[in-house]
This record gives sequence, C-alpha cells and structure tokens, in this order.
Amino acid sequence: MTIIDGKEVSAALKKEIAAEVEKIKAAGGKIPYLVAILVGDDGASQTYVGHKEKMCAEVGFRSTVLRLPAETTEEQLLKEVDRLNNDDDVDGFIVQLPLPKHIDEQKIIEAIDPRKDVDGFHPENAGRMVTGLPAFLPATPDGILALLRYYKIETAGKHCVVIGRSNIVGRPMANLLSQKGWDCTVTMCHSRTKDLAKVVASGDIVIAALGKAEFVTADMVKPGAVVIDVGITRVPSDKTKSGWKLLGDVKYDEVAPKCSYITPVPGGVGPMTIISLMQNTLKAGKGEIYPKK
Ligand code: NAD
Repeated sequence: MTIIDGKEVSAALKKEIAAEVEKIKAAGGKIPYLVAILVGDDGASQTYVGHKEKMCAEVGFRSTVLRLPAETTEEQLLKEVDRLNNDDDVDGFIVQLPLPKHIDEQKIIEAIDPRKDVDGFHPENAGRMVTGLPAFLPATPDGILALLRYYKIETAGKHCVVIGRSNIVGRPMANLLSQKGWDCTVTMCHSRTKDLAKVVASGDIVIAALGKAEFVTADMVKPGAVVIDVGITRVPSDKTKSGWKLLGDVKYDEVAPKCSYITPVPGGVGPMTIISLMQNTLKAGKGEIYPKK
C-alpha cells in the first residue's frame, strides 16, 4: 500500500510554478495577479483566504484580498465583481464561498468574467470542461488528477466510483475521469443511491467526497482499490492543542491496509486544491485558456 503524499506533490508543483514566475520576471513580463473577495467574518473562509494569499507570495504572484463586511449587499458585491472584470491588471479573481445568506451565490458566480474565473465555477467553464475544451478546472478535482498523474496510477478502463455530486467536487470529478486520456468507467453516487456499499465495493478507484466523517469502511472497499479521500470534517479531540482534529470520509486505519493507494487526511487532497488555484492563475496570466484581449 502506498500513501499518496499530497504535501510532496504540492511542493513539487509549487516549485514549478515559482520557476515559471521567475522566467516571466526575467523576460520582463507581467507577474500574475490574483484577487480574492472575502465577504463577512467566517473563520474557516478567513483561514482559506489567508492560505491562498500566503501561497501567492510564496510562488511570486501579486495578490490582494478584498475584505468586505458581512452586511455587503448583493448589488454592492456585483459592483465589485464588475470592477474586477474590467480591471486589466487583474488576471484572475475568486469570491470565497460560502457567501452570507442574503447573497445569491449563483448570481455572483455567473457575474464573474469566465476569462478570470480561476475557481472554474462559472457555467461557461463548466460547459467547456464537459465538452473537453480548455477550461479553468475546479481546483479540487484538478488537484486529484494531478495526484493520479504524479503517482502514475492506471485509470484507463478502471471502474471509478465517485461518492458525491456537488458542482465543485463530485460532478466535475466524475466527468473528468470519464474523458479521453483518463478513460475510466465512472459511477457517480449521491445521497439517493441504493445499495451504496455494493456500488463502492465494485470500484477500482473510489473517490469519497460526501462530507461524512469515516463513512467509507473496510467492508465497502475492494482489495487493491485506489482510495481518494476528499472529505474534511472537524471533530472535537482531547488529544490536540486546538481541541479539534480533521477526519476524512474514509475510515483510514481499517481501509488503508486493503488499498493499493490511499490519500490521508490531512496531507492528501487538501494541499493540492490550493496548488490548482495557483496553476489556474498562472494560466490566466499567460492567457492559456482564453487568449488575452
Ligand atoms: P456537498 O455537501 O456540496 O456535497 C456532498 C455530496 O455528497 C452531495 O452530492 C450528496 O448527495 C452526497 N452525499 C451526502 N450524503 C451521502 C450519503 N450518505 N451517501 C452518498 N452520498 C451522499 O459537499 P462538497 O462541497 O462536495 O464537499 C464534500 C467534502 O469534501 C466535504 O467534507 C468538504 O469539506 C470536502 N472538501 C475538501 C476539499 C479539499 O481541498 N480537500 C475541497 C472541497 C471540499
């Protein structure tokens, strides 16, 4: 059994991005510039945005965090989005989710210029992805593909079971793995799937993205399967200083011995997500997905 080390892979890819930025600098080109909009004071969102800001600095990007108060109206946020859409200096931007309840997230996502949509959530990018056109891919599934690539995990003809159908993880993951080049036969499961345990047990590759701590147990996994754990659930713990720990969607200790490959939580998929965002920002800066106007 091999433990897929997301920290190692993300560190290697981070170096590649930083080297690209150095090349751009040396050639006198424009340094990629990412803006993040953060509305309100949700603790987890602040942490995520802080990590993104730090990573930008580490790879050499320019970045700005626009911190807006929780009472920001939908109209005010749409104005900010419009301003960033029209600011030629900004290569890409993200609106950190979730947004306060009085703001329609979908409306905001659709207001972002797809050319700057480095989260890959805009329907135009989702549509381009589904049809196999160059697109900004959502960071988590893209990060998982990078892990499979790095470890040279065979996917062609394999049965991949994806648990979860969200627009940011499960659905794009299932779509991408069914595409040419990855060539999996994919089953996408969700909360209404019947006989889920039986379906999961038929997977050569299992991607758990349902957000239920330790849901996937050893009896649900085929011997030799590749198991990718996307879930992150905070649970109280008296063994850590912080008073909590993170659990994945997979009961790691009992599942790991049955697998050929498995991602731990933390240190598996998590570190990859932010790297994919950096790669998308680099692509936006270079005009790789949509040529620069
Ligand atoms: P979500 O709540 O939007 O979607 C969960 C999906 O799981 C739904 O489609 C639902 O149908 C399905 N589901 C729920 N209960 C189920 C059950 N009992 N059986 C089968 N399917 C069931 O969540 P999400 O945004 O896709 O995130 C999923 C998990 O991944 C969460 O724990 C989240 O924190 C984590 N996550 C991690 C990263 C990372 O970087 N590691 C990134 C994004 C999300």
